Amino acid sequence: MDFNDTQEEAVFRAEARAWLEANAPKPTAAKRGDAAHLTAAKVWQAKKAAAGYAQIAWPKEWGGGGGTPIQSIIFAQEESKYAQNYGYFQIGLGMCVPTVMAFGDEETKKRFVGPAVRGEEIWCQLFSEPSAGSGQKVWTSGAHYSDFGIVLVRTNPDVAKHKGLTMFWLNMKSRGVEVRPIHQMSGGRDFNEVYLTDVRVKDSQRLGPVDDGWRVALVTLMNERLAVGGGADVDYSTILRLARELRTETGPALADPSFREKLADWFVQSEGLKNTRMRTMTALSRGQAPGPESSIGKIIAANQLQDLSNAAVEMQDQYGIICDPTLAPLAAAFQSSLLSSAGLRIAGGTDEILKNIIAERVLGLPGDIRVDKDVAFKDLPGRSVDP
Ligand SMILES: Cc1cc2nc3c(=O)[nH]c(=O)nc-3n(C[C@H](O)[C@H](O)[C@H](O)COP(=O)(O)OP(=O)(O)OC[C@H]3O[C@@H](n4cnc5c(N)ncnc54)[C@H](O)[C@@H]3O)c2cc1C
Repeated sequence: MDFNDTQEEAVFRAEARAWLEANAPKPTAAKRGDAAHLTAAKVWQAKKAAAGYAQIAWPKEWGGGGGTPIQSIIFAQEESKYAQNYGYFQIGLGMCVPTVMAFGDEETKKRFVGPAVRGEEIWCQLFSEPSAGSGQKVWTSGAHYSDFGIVLVRTNPDVAKHKGLTMFWLNMKSRGVEVRPIHQMSGGRDFNEVYLTDVRVKDSQRLGPVDDGWRVALVTLMNERLAVGGGADVDYSTILRLARELRTETGPALADPSFREKLADWFVQSEGLKNTRMRTMTALSRGQAPGPESSIGKIIAANQLQDLSNAAVEMQDQYGIICDPTLAPLAAAFQSSLLSSAGLRIAGGTDEILKNIIAERVLGLPGDIRVDKDVAFKDLPGRSVDP
C-alpha cells in the first residue's frame, strides 16, 4: 500500500487542481429538485467532457479522457474541494452506460455513450420490483429526470428466478411508462415508482441474450459497488467540529466521556476505511481490479454515517429537530444525513447481502442456504406472473 502520488500522479493532480481553480462552478442557491440545479449540473458535465475530465478512464473515442482509473479518483478527490457533487450522472455513467458498452451493438453504443458522457442525456436503473413479475418497478432513483433506463424484465417464469430475466434499454418517454415520485422523509423526491403498462420494446433494445439478464445485471452491479460509497457530506471530522462548538447543559459536548468514547470508535473506523480505500487505489494504480472486499467500505461507511448523525442530532437536544439549514448548526447537515443514511444501508446492496458476499467470497465461508435456488419463478409462493 502506498499513500503517496507517483510522480505522474502528482503532475496530473496539479493540472486537475489548476483546471478546477479556473473552471469550477461558483456555489449558487439552487438546490436539488430545482430546474436550475439540473441545468447547472449539465453545464458542468459538458465542460468537464470538453476538457477530457468526464469519464477520465474511458477511451477518447467514447468521449472519455483516455486516462487511468487512478486519475479518475484523483480528479474526483480534487473536484470535491471545488464543485458540488450534483449526483445526476452517477447511475448512468457508473452503471447503465457501462452495461450498454459491454452488451450493446456498435450502433447502440455510438448513439448513447457520447451524449451520456457530455451530460446531455441522463439514465436510470430499473431493477427493483415489488413482486418481480415486471409490471412495476420501485425505488428508481432519478427516473423523473431521466431520458433512458436499463430495465431488467421477467421473460421466462418457468425457470428458476435468476434464469428467466432479460435486460433492455428503455426510452423513459415511451408510451406506457408512468413515473410516480416517492416523497421521502427527508423532504426530497429522489426516487420513484415506475409503472410499465403495455410498454413495447424492440428486440434491438435488448442487452445480452434472452433469459441471460442476470449475467448482464451482475456487470451492472459490479460497477455499482465501485460507484457507490463516495464521500458523505458529514464524517468524523464534522462531528468533531460540532462537538467543539456546542455547549450542553453539563459543559462543552466534547468533554462528555461517553461521546469521547464514540468519537474514538469513529476515528478508528475512519482510519480503517481510509486504508481500505488506499488499498483499492493502490490496486487500481497497479492496473489491478478491486475485488469483492470493497463491499466492506459501504457497510462501514453507511452504518457510521447513521450512527454519528444520530449522535449529532441527540447532542443538539431539543434543537436537534430543527431541519432549517439557515438555523441549525452546520446548515442542518446532520439532520439531513440522519434522514438519508437509513436508505444508504439498503441502496446498492443491503448490509445483510454485502455481509453474505464478504462471508462467501472473501472469507470462503459456506454459502447461504438458498431453498428457492432451483424452484421455477412461477412456483415461488406469493409471486404473481403477468399473463
Ligand atoms: C436510496 C435508494 C435508492 C435506490 N435506487 C434504486 C435504483 O435506482 N434502481 C433500482 O432498481 N433499485 C434502487 N433501490 C432499491 C435497492 O437496490 C433495493 O431496495 C435493495 O437492493 C434491497 O432489495 P429489496 O428492496 O428487494 O429488499 P429484499 O431483497 O426483499 O430484502 C428485504 C430484507 O431482507 C434481507 N435479505 C434479503 N435476502 C437476504 C439473504 N439472502 N440473507 C439475509 N438477509 C436477506 C435484506 O437485507 C433486507 O433487510 C434503491 C434503494 C434505496 C434505499
